[in-house]
Amino acid sequence: MSLKIILIHPPIAKCSEPPAGIARLSGCLKTNNIRHEIIDANLEGIFFLLQNVSYKQTFTDRWTTRSIKNLEHNFTALKSLNTYQNLSRYQRAVTDINHLLNLAGESCNVDLSLADYQDKYLSPIKSTDLITAAEKPQKNPFHPYFQNRLMNALEKNPDFIGFSLNYLSQAICTFAMIGFIKQINPRQKIILGGSLVTSWINLGVNRNVFGNLADEIVAGAGEKKLMEIFDIGNNLTDCLPAYQDFPINKYLSPNPVLPYSSAQGCYWHKCVFCPENAESNAYLPLETPRVTHDLHILTGQINPSLIHILDSSISPSLLAAMAKNPPGAPWYGFARVTKHLANDDFCLSLKQSGCVMLKLGIESGDQSVLDQLNKGIDLSTASSVLKKLKKAGIATYCYFLFGTPPENEENATKTLDFVCRHHECINFLNLAIFNLPTRSLEAQTLATHDFYEGDLSFYKIFEHPFGWHRRAVRNFLEKTFKKHSAIAPILRRTPVFFTSNHAPFFCS
Ligand code: SF4
Repeated sequence: MSLKIILIHPPIAKCSEPPAGIARLSGCLKTNNIRHEIIDANLEGIFFLLQNVSYKQTFTDRWTTRSIKNLEHNFTALKSLNTYQNLSRYQRAVTDINHLLNLAGESCNVDLSLADYQDKYLSPIKSTDLITAAEKPQKNPFHPYFQNRLMNALEKNPDFIGFSLNYLSQAICTFAMIGFIKQINPRQKIILGGSLVTSWINLGVNRNVFGNLADEIVAGAGEKKLMEIFDIGNNLTDCLPAYQDFPINKYLSPNPVLPYSSAQGCYWHKCVFCPENAESNAYLPLETPRVTHDLHILTGQINPSLIHILDSSISPSLLAAMAKNPPGAPWYGFARVTKHLANDDFCLSLKQSGCVMLKLGIESGDQSVLDQLNKGIDLSTASSVLKKLKKAGIATYCYFLFGTPPENEENATKTLDFVCRHHECINFLNLAIFNLPTRSLEAQTLATHDFYEGDLSFYKIFEHPFGWHRRAVRNFLEKTFKKHSAIAPILRRTPVFFTSNHAPFFCS
């Protein structure tokens, strides 16, 4: 029986857990007895660069020498929970590993890290640059890794090779790998899917923009497209994500982390700044009993140290179901600030179900800003939620957004006050500067111009109604907000590069 498809997760993405999208496709293919293989080219590529490249002879400074000497030790450290008891030990292991990865990218003019890929000359939001990456795959820092790996894959004569492209940091490597495949076998059929591709199509990007590099471009759930391509009925309902074919113990986290998605889209779907709203993404949740069932089975199979619920926002009904029917391992994810969480008993039941951390998009400490953003958050509820979660022993990773159209410096100062007043209830912080989604309603009412020159960009630069422009916002964040004595310690304990993916391990 021939190999039907090889599914590839390209670099760069955080390598702390297996990719959930491909696991879902693999589960679907297994259920339907379609022969397939998985390549986590992100994990393999990162390890390959760290362990094999020639920079080891070129650099002799003390940091590099120490990083090379301690590489295996640092891998082991990130897989041990003990390391997460000692922040400086953890940060040293991560920054040393990252340093080597960064050096590996240097000769290719790529600023490479454990969380990002920035090519000095090629932009992931320009289709012409992605095509250039495909035309010159040997210039990609991962070429020494993928040339042999993909040659071996091609020898298996797969009908299709599918790429799951979810982040901009994966785009250039994805196209370099596709270009390499097409150089070896121009007739090899390529399927390109993933959430980034879905967003591009929703943005109105022409499916032919990449020429004949991709034979199929898939927007939305890949399972349906695969069933259509392989001409198989519609047996999608019983598919459990399959992690058996992933090198589950190799990811840089203590024991396996199980990522699981219970829904596509967001049940709230109304925040004016959010791509979920701008792209009009439908909310497609799985039935709650199905989710709790899946989590039990997967936890039994994998024995994870942590479950990562990937939903944009875990619905209150799913939170309640998990509290009632615990998944069997510690878990975390995004939740909206709602009245459900301002309840001692509910928070306690979540804690008892294994909830170690909730990520909360609070965005602003000014009620008028929140109202204009259509966030649906009441600040007094947010205050109560933070205190109840703290009392229950659930850590919080709070997200705040600066420079939105209704915000000025006075409003941002109220956010500063809010965070200071709740600093004891906030374990980790994410501070972001607002980008205006091209498709948002606001983009039609504000004076705008292109964010960067790029036909694949999701954002536009805009004239801020109060002159609260990015540079002023950045100054406020760097010189005032981050320097505050109540806030600086929170930022210092936020894990470098892996951020929220590793934060729960500091809360156990
Ligand atoms: S709750 Fe989060 S995911 Fe949902 S619309 Fe608002 S910002 Fe977007």
